[in-house]
Amino acid sequence: MDQVGRIFRPPSEGDSLLLQVSLGCSHNKCSYCAMYDLPEQKFRIKDWETIAADISEAAAWSENGLAIRRVFLCDGDALILPTDYLARILETLREKIPSVRRVGIYGDARSILRKSAVELTLLRELGLGIVYHGAESGDDDVLRRMNKGSTAAEAAEAASLLAGAGIRHSVMVMLGLGGTEHSAEHAAKTAALLTLMDPPFVGALTTTLVPGTPLFAEAEAGRFALPDPWGILEELRVLIRESKFTRCRFHSNHASNYVPLSLNLPADREKAMISLDRILERREESSLRPEFLRGL
Ligand code: SF4
Repeated sequence: MDQVGRIFRPPSEGDSLLLQVSLGCSHNKCSYCAMYDLPEQKFRIKDWETIAADISEAAAWSENGLAIRRVFLCDGDALILPTDYLARILETLREKIPSVRRVGIYGDARSILRKSAVELTLLRELGLGIVYHGAESGDDDVLRRMNKGSTAAEAAEAASLLAGAGIRHSVMVMLGLGGTEHSAEHAAKTAALLTLMDPPFVGALTTTLVPGTPLFAEAEAGRFALPDPWGILEELRVLIRESKFTRCRFHSNHASNYVPLSLNLPADREKAMISLDRILERREESSLRPEFLRGL
């Protein structure tokens, strides 16, 4: 398989075939992000010959007994690829590896909203089953400061478009992204956005300061400070208490988090509140994932 640079995938795509159809991220400007900072990961769409050769290679594995049920299309926001190119990839996967049941992809509000309802429906019919979308915050001031390139209203519109097309939507939000100064507004507005989006999956990650990023430089200059672990947990508590979901699998089990939770909301809300309240009341370091185990 032709794989260039570092490959990222959502935790739930751990068993998927990782098919790199583009490099990097077409936006690549979020202040906290260093995912695609290698020179060889400058955004580009891979040529058809390379992608087709990778699919043929995976098809040969499949014919030799490897069960390939899921495929994840990398890199960063591969949904930005033209619809006809994505359709060709999905059709070829379906033809060459018929065992594939679901294809996943990273997208953001920009790339989702560039597609029409008809285009997204076509992609769903060809096998696109889930879009992983880093909405990060419901606070437009935070999104602007982080150079996210989209607003909360656009994230909500993107959710509605995906739901209408029948594509599952997994939304990531970032605890601590408002810093200590805007922590309360960030949490409350993110809960309000999640209520509007009402996705079937939510992952809450904890913001980490990565050397080399603009956010790291802001922190070094004293213009941004992450909440401490208890402040991060207060934000998590607000998200769980205030987001109103129809039916959502809510995770905070990413390696960056201090307290891993895996909840069905709204059913598990009260249980989670009791548990978080107890942790916040006692403030015992032993109830937090140790820093050295927080994979960043
Ligand atoms: S859109 Fe995602 S991958 Fe691209 S810069 Fe922002 S956080 Fe990084």
